[in-house]
Amino acid sequence: MSVILDVKGLEASYGPTNVLHGLDFSLEEGGVTTILGANGAGKTTTLRAISGMVERKGVINVGGKELSTLRPADITRQGIAHVPEGRGTFVRMSTEDNLRLGAYTRKDKNEIEADIERVYSYFPILKQRRDQQAGTLSGGEAQMLAVGRALMLRPKLLLLDEPSFGLAPLIVQELFEILKRINVEDGVSMLLVEQNAALALDLADHAYLLETGNIVISGTSDSILENETVRRSYLGY
Ligand code: ATP
Repeated sequence: MSVILDVKGLEASYGPTNVLHGLDFSLEEGGVTTILGANGAGKTTTLRAISGMVERKGVINVGGKELSTLRPADITRQGIAHVPEGRGTFVRMSTEDNLRLGAYTRKDKNEIEADIERVYSYFPILKQRRDQQAGTLSGGEAQMLAVGRALMLRPKLLLLDEPSFGLAPLIVQELFEILKRINVEDGVSMLLVEQNAALALDLADHAYLLETGNIVISGTSDSILENETVRRSYLGY
């Protein structure tokens, strides 16, 4: 299997403060990789570094293209969709207009309607809410809209920042089942940041554990599940 994302020596900073200290990791095409870690470890910053939203150094190679010098809009054009922490939907716009906005960089405008229907087939509730202002959606619906909007880009790589955050367990379960379908049916590779390690390891095939801006453990999800430190600190058994 080929590698879709290859990151080497990734550093990122906010002003003078360096928060990532040279990360090396990769993601196989069609795979799901998760980055686990406690609050403040640098998970969100890692995703922001890939999508060009923070100052960064190092190599970020996606499908053979070097991204570390590109700006966010150009990174999006490479088929990298970021579902940020806090979802980032436009609250005054309707659900469907939010979806349309996700396709803004695309040239194949005639295929957009079909893709909106495809998003609705994954998330039927969004079809019911299509004319509703996004700001009136429940937390789960808003997260589904954020994922749906990212899919409108027809991404090859989806960056997911804590999709389970603040959602009820049943909604989380439903959301993660749909993420699995998106991965399998559409072949979208995913880099998933999560504090809920059990959930993340269930979806992902590979995992990295981040501590204060350094990768301290990496391996297949099965091997990480058996790791003593991960079990004690992140899985609670
Ligand atoms: P969380 O789960 O709390 O989001 P995280 O692992 O995603 O944690 P980051 O949000 O990437 O961690 O934060 C990494 C470090 O960078 C933390 O020490 C944090 O305080 C710092 N940091 C994050 N955002 C900023 C910012 N905008 N300005 C300055 N420092 C920041």
